[in-house]
Amino acid sequence: MSMIRVEQLHKHFHGVEVLKGIDLSVQKGTTTVIIGPSGSGKTTLLRCLNLLEIPSQGKLTLANTSISFTRKSKVSYSDLMSIRKQTGMVFQNYNLFPHLTAIENVMEGQVIVQKRTKSDARSLSLQLLDKVGLRDRADSYPHELSGGQQQRVGIARAMALHPQVLLFDEPTSALDPELVGDVLQVMKDLSAEGMTMVIVTHEMGFAREVADQVVFMDQGIVLEKGTPDQVFELSNNERTMQFLRKIQ
Ligand code: ADP
Repeated sequence: MSMIRVEQLHKHFHGVEVLKGIDLSVQKGTTTVIIGPSGSGKTTLLRCLNLLEIPSQGKLTLANTSISFTRKSKVSYSDLMSIRKQTGMVFQNYNLFPHLTAIENVMEGQVIVQKRTKSDARSLSLQLLDKVGLRDRADSYPHELSGGQQQRVGIARAMALHPQVLLFDEPTSALDPELVGDVLQVMKDLSAEGMTMVIVTHEMGFAREVADQVVFMDQGIVLEKGTPDQVFELSNNERTMQFLRKIQ
């Protein structure tokens, strides 16, 4: 069953076409990794999936919500909210609230958006912090945590709203190398549990090991997609091979 379907998606910024007709399907319970050179449109595509960017043209279907975009029509508030509710986003720079503790960061959306009681939100947040290995740091502020720990709080926060899909935008790029492993491990665990995930990353080892689908983007199009073997081992596309040679 398709959890996400993207059809002929285009995105322009000030007249420049950054996504040039993307087609993509993500099956429920699978992990999709998007790779490609800098500036190829990976982040823009990811942000279009939860409407942090509004596509200029094309169609997006996410679970039960389907939206067609044209340059003239505006996305309705209810469609916007429906997509946002079904997606959780993990950002490169964590984007935690600096004045809130780890657990308060995880609770915030549950209390404000989902109107859960504080005690319900607190107990779910503790479970989630436990899952990412940070139960004992629940009362620490972001500045008291390493980048890797902050990112794991970011993942717990994204999961707290029970999204259908988790989106990751280069979640380990801002981390010191020794902190990357713990974050990738949390993502591997989520993948193994059947969370549907779309991840923009340069971690090729992770992509090989964990991805069900690898999508290679170049200059605003999907140049290739398939299993890790198909893209990493069997591709005979010159641009894919060039990119992989450079990055590995
Ligand atoms: P990637 O994630 O593959 O590095 P991006 O999606 O970040 O690529 O960017 C693709 C292109 O879109 C780049 O040329 C970038 O400068 C441009 N771009 C991204 N966001 C904006 C924006 N908000 N306004 C104008 N141009 C943008």
